[in-house]
Amino acid sequence: MSAELDERQKRQVLGVVRQCIEKANRALGCNLSLPDILFDLRGRAAGQFCLRQERLQLRFNSALFARYFEDNLAQTVPHEVAHYLVYMLFMRPGRKRVKPHGPEWQSMMRLLDAAPVTRHNFSLDGLPVRREQRFAWRCDCRAHSIAKRTHLRMLRGEQRICITCGTLLQYPAEKDDS
Ligand SMILES: [Zn+2]
Ligand SMILES: [Zn+2]
Repeated sequence: MSAELDERQKRQVLGVVRQCIEKANRALGCNLSLPDILFDLRGRAAGQFCLRQERLQLRFNSALFARYFEDNLAQTVPHEVAHYLVYMLFMRPGRKRVKPHGPEWQSMMRLLDAAPVTRHNFSLDGLPVRREQRFAWRCDCRAHSIAKRTHLRMLRGEQRICITCGTLLQYPAEKDDS
């Protein structure tokens, strides 16, 4: 069995997200607001920045986060906030493509006083997995796990763009590794 984040820990995560964004606002002289913050991510990734139902969201994997709480607080939170900052500051204004962990993301990580590294070595043993059938679509940077309903709409032509790298999602994906 694995533990999930409790309410106190979730408030801590929210606090760190807020600190990161305030730090960026001060350093860059901008006025970015908080994206939605959810704890509903499952699977291999500890966090994710995404656009769903027209909302910008930071999603965290509650079970994986709880298992490595301090590491995730120090790494995963700035990692995902940095994706949000890159999207708001570099991609959205000019509909520009960037490398997901390229120079823009690295500069945002440094601004947040976080090491610009991307790999985690968390053990996933015993973590809850999704039961619902998912489909792996791919952009240039990662696999996107898509629910069946959305998958069918996308097969019929609904286009989705990855907001981390700016490329169109394609199916079938070559490999499933998020
Ligand atoms: Zn990333
Ligand atoms: Zn991508």
